[in-house]
Amino acid sequence: MHELSIAHSLVEIASQAALEVKAKKVEAVRLRLGALSGVVKEALLFSYDVVIENTILAGSRLDIEELPVILYCPQCEVESQLPGIQQFRCPKCNQPSARIVQGKELEIVSLEYSE
Ligand SMILES: [Zn+2]
Repeated sequence: MHELSIAHSLVEIASQAALEVKAKKVEAVRLRLGALSGVVKEALLFSYDVVIENTILAGSRLDIEELPVILYCPQCEVESQLPGIQQFRCPKCNQPSARIVQGKELEIVSLEYSE
């Protein structure tokens, strides 16, 4: 499962960061997840719970902020939020556009530590 390897790298990154600030435990990982990231949120949450066992992240939360796709339309010169990921068309003029402004994110926003 794709999400499992992502969960593994999240744990690696967070453990490394915790080590650098000399934290004993990570309480929470906040993540931004775009609709086009190709990651299934539920699968990632599940994988996370499995992977954090016996690590500095054991018992921590994974907070996922889901980001919808935002498309820029050169014709209307506006950025619009898309209702889904099936069609990349401007909701105003219905012209196709490939200028994706947001939606591919898969990034850690912040980490919460405890002493
Ligand atoms: Zn448009």
